[in-house]
Amino acid sequence: MIDEKQQTKALDADLSELFLRQSQKALLLRQESYGLRIERLKKLKAWVLANTTKIRDAVYSDFKKPEFEADLSETFVVLADINLALKSLKKWTKPKSVPAGLTYFGSSAFVHYEPKGVCLIISPWNYPFNLCIGPLVSAIAAGNTAIIKPSELTPNTSQVIAQMVGELFPQEEVAVYQGGPEITQRLLQLPFNHIFFTGSSAVGKIVMEAAAKNLSSVTLELGGKSPVIIDKTANLKDAAEKIVWGKLLNCGQTCVSPDYLFIHESVRESFMEHLKYFLETLFKQPGENFKETPNYARIINKKHYQRLCQALSTAIEDGASLVYGGDVDETENFISPTVLDNVPLHTTLMKEEIFGPILPVNTFKNHDEVIQYINGQPKALSLYLFSNDKRIQKRYRLETSSGTACVNDVVVQFQQPHLPFGGVNESGIGKSHGHFGFLAFSNEKAWLKQRVGFTSAKLLYPPYSAAKKRILNILMKYF
Ligand code: NAD
Repeated sequence: MIDEKQQTKALDADLSELFLRQSQKALLLRQESYGLRIERLKKLKAWVLANTTKIRDAVYSDFKKPEFEADLSETFVVLADINLALKSLKKWTKPKSVPAGLTYFGSSAFVHYEPKGVCLIISPWNYPFNLCIGPLVSAIAAGNTAIIKPSELTPNTSQVIAQMVGELFPQEEVAVYQGGPEITQRLLQLPFNHIFFTGSSAVGKIVMEAAAKNLSSVTLELGGKSPVIIDKTANLKDAAEKIVWGKLLNCGQTCVSPDYLFIHESVRESFMEHLKYFLETLFKQPGENFKETPNYARIINKKHYQRLCQALSTAIEDGASLVYGGDVDETENFISPTVLDNVPLHTTLMKEEIFGPILPVNTFKNHDEVIQYINGQPKALSLYLFSNDKRIQKRYRLETSSGTACVNDVVVQFQQPHLPFGGVNESGIGKSHGHFGFLAFSNEKAWLKQRVGFTSAKLLYPPYSAAKKRILNILMKYF
């Protein structure tokens, strides 16, 4: 019998050997033209297009993710990422000249986008294909090698990812390691040039601490509570429809899902009517049970199911009123869309990321109290404001901080390919998507070329005479 220690030793040896091979390959990739990266991305695109059914079936068997949502939020978004990279890579990789100015007269300078090297991509279970392969697209576009650690909670999708990578890339270019935290812990011992982690803030801290030992750079795409504010000037019907869609997508298990809602007290009743209407009709036929519709996913596992049931029942015990839903079934990890009113601010539902189909609603009288509340919480990944008042929109833009924000819609800012995506502090560090993803996996190397025998800095070489002091004074005044 091989004991645990020996197994860890064997795993470490295996990982070190792979890391070494990827490091050697990374040196070669650094010298390649962008055309070869395009070839890799095209291979990836062709595989995804040829295997949409396989991806769809895998995420369905992992947590009954509806077919349409799998196509939309796993496959389509990855294809869109690849297409943008294919279209833009020539521009992204082109060195960017910077002006020399008078002080650097005679020199030329530019930013060279160098691949970081060997990268680690750790992903969560909630969009198991998209959040693994999206970062891989950026890593490949930027010319890196990568080791991927998909989530152990979606084993069917992880298996598809391993198969795809195995068919498309030699291990020294891209490799997949499946398993849980124990594998991540071993991987984190290695001196990666960049670590791209998507997951909870708690594990993000573990990743950052491990990265610090090797001074590996990190992108941390984390979670948190994304507030929704509905002003009295909002179009309530439009707001209700969009919020129901964003909240029930993936059964509320979306990092940018509307987490909790503050509504102006004067429009609460009218909004609740619209909300109930769309809850009844958007994902199912009126009168149909949410269990019967193929459009509604399940909670990923028993642990999360129990966590949500507990948060729901303690909120009700503490005074919240159940306005809609509240049906649960442990045999299927099923929780129906649930709306609660007057939810005390100290409850788990208002303190921790919900990550499920439960929407707490509270009212407000004026925006000062909402802004003050938001600023007293950890910084959100997203903030949603429904308002037609430009002054109010400006107040939230200037007076609150969040990774992303969206006015009069929810979730869609995630997929705007020309916007950076990511959190701030507790909700994340660094940005991803499109050009920002390319930059996350690139070292922006400063390159300055001087004329031989000349440098304007010579004017200030020692000895530091009075004349040189006068030149420096002039420079300090005018530059
Ligand atoms: P998680 O943090 O539990 O797991 C993420 C990854 O870390 C998995 O691969 C897991 O195996 C690994 N891991 C878990 N515990 C670990 C440990 N102790 N040591 C080392 N590695 C460990 O997250 P999750 O439950 O898979 O995903 C849900 C969370 O991810 C939510 O908080 C959500 O908001 C966040 N999320 C963020 C984004 C984003 O883009 N910002 C996207 C999706 C999900």
